[in-house]
Amino acid sequence: MESVRRAFKVLISRNLAYKIKYAAHKMLHGSMHEHYKKVGGYIEALKSTSPGTDIELVTDPTKHIVPPVFQRLFTCFEGLQKGWKLGCRKVICIDACFLKTFLGGQLLVAVGRDGNNQMYPIAWAVAEGENNNSWEWFMIKLQKCLDLDDGEGIAVISDEHVAIINVVASVLPKAENRHCARHIFAHWHKSFKGDQMKLLFWKIAKAYNLDDFNDALEETNAINEEAVTTFKSYNPKLFYRAYLDISIKTDAITSNMAETFNGYIINARTKHLIYMLEDIRISLMQRLVVKRQAMQKSTSTVCQRIQAKLDQEKTKAANCDVIPSTDTLFNVNYYLDQLVVDLEAKTCSCRKWNMLGYPCFHAVAYIYFLNKEAEDFVEDCYKRETYLKAYAGSVSPIDGERYWLRVEYGLDPPPIKIGPGRPRVNRRKDPMEDPKKPGTLQRTGMEMTCSVCHVKGHNKRRCPNKYTASAPTEPPPKRPRGRPRKDGQPPISHSQVAQSSTTHHNAITQPTQLGRGGRMCRGGADIYLNFVLILVPVGVGVYFAADGSAYTNQGGSSRHVNDQATQSSQVSTLHQATQ
Ligand SMILES: [Zn+2]
Ligand SMILES: [Zn+2]
Repeated sequence: MESVRRAFKVLISRNLAYKIKYAAHKMLHGSMHEHYKKVGGYIEALKSTSPGTDIELVTDPTKHIVPPVFQRLFTCFEGLQKGWKLGCRKVICIDACFLKTFLGGQLLVAVGRDGNNQMYPIAWAVAEGENNNSWEWFMIKLQKCLDLDDGEGIAVISDEHVAIINVVASVLPKAENRHCARHIFAHWHKSFKGDQMKLLFWKIAKAYNLDDFNDALEETNAINEEAVTTFKSYNPKLFYRAYLDISIKTDAITSNMAETFNGYIINARTKHLIYMLEDIRISLMQRLVVKRQAMQKSTSTVCQRIQAKLDQEKTKAANCDVIPSTDTLFNVNYYLDQLVVDLEAKTCSCRKWNMLGYPCFHAVAYIYFLNKEAEDFVEDCYKRETYLKAYAGSVSPIDGERYWLRVEYGLDPPPIKIGPGRPRVNRRKDPMEDPKKPGTLQRTGMEMTCSVCHVKGHNKRRCPNKYTASAPTEPPPKRPRGRPRKDGQPPISHSQVAQSSTTHHNAITQPTQLGRGGRMCRGGADIYLNFVLILVPVGVGVYFAADGSAYTNQGGSSRHVNDQATQSSQVSTLHQATQ
């Protein structure tokens, strides 16, 4: 609306603006025919540069027209496929995000975790939306690309979308389908509010072993029994660390990775099909190189973030007492806790080592006791070599549109899906989600206090005493400026100085305008007593009369400077200095 006003000098209503936008979309939709005709050429270009790349185009089976209508497109690059198989742990986050063009649709993504606990995008697909069919198609494609078979030894992390749960159960029956704890938490937190409950929830969910888990449950039970009942109604195998499969070597219980990726490609998602896919491809092409080079430069054997975590464990290890039993079995005491660590099986009764694949502090204590290095006991999946394997592959570059094969493949865009109005760009945040900046508090839940009548429950605007309340009382007198004087008298304020100086020395000053180009001028020695300082801006003439008074031509007419009662602080300060 504003741009219309600026460009055409016409005011339009919001309603009209939306109507125009819709009409424009319809016209653009026509131009989309051209865009989708190029899809065939784009796919050919990708396939010719890297034959192992898996791309599948699906047309809408419900529309029997020529040309066919675009429905879905799956992409999984060869370099990422191989990299994931060789260098990543067997955990996949799957999630869907909305595309921001007027054609609607969603992007289904599968994201892994690299050795440095960062995201490793594997595959993505444009689909008409989240439903049983689209997820099934996506999972079957993914299964084929990554050789997942029946999902043995694989963990899939997702939100609680019914379609995903059904599909994972049918396509990868043996996979561990972890539900994102953050989504569950958001749901649970609605009925059980407060920071204390929040801490308790994560304490339960993040407990590595059953004993910690039960302790945390009991703690919650003492506060709110209902909360625990609700907690127990969730399937424990879904997201409590205490119940998870330890062979996968990851403690991830949230689908953060997928959401990171969704944020990573947020700008790409506002573009049309080919431009979006190109954006994603290019950013990943770069990412692989950047990550590979960064790791090649580093000298450590363990990935950076894991090393940092290990260093934390090392600090804690100083508080442990070690009592060996055999060469590899031993007791570790940590304050009142006593645990058994098995160095050969790489386990500790706290289960952290079992689950994560790098030693917990109990184990580090014993490793140090044996004069060994903790880094040697870290699983291979966190090592430099494995990481480099994951990033060894590449996404191959392709030629620009001009060089693509002229593939005669008619394809129509999907129908316009979203309604009129401005689509959201950013993710819709859950109201209970943490504010972005950790130190800031949300204003919701804070009690208002009225600034007029000081009664809680309403603010100034809704105050019943708004008009009847007396005028605000005079503010307390300000403390005079300056350092308090030693003799106990209040410091001399500037007006006092000015007045006293006027009486004592008969000083005459001009209200200063000593700004740009201002200058000071001084009277001669004989008039010094009368004209201590005269500050005038350039262009203002000062005439010294014979009787000792001065005139200026400021303001068009002559004014007698002596009459100027106001004294500028600057002048008086200067005057003080001359005393
Ligand atoms: Zn331990
Ligand atoms: Zn009030």
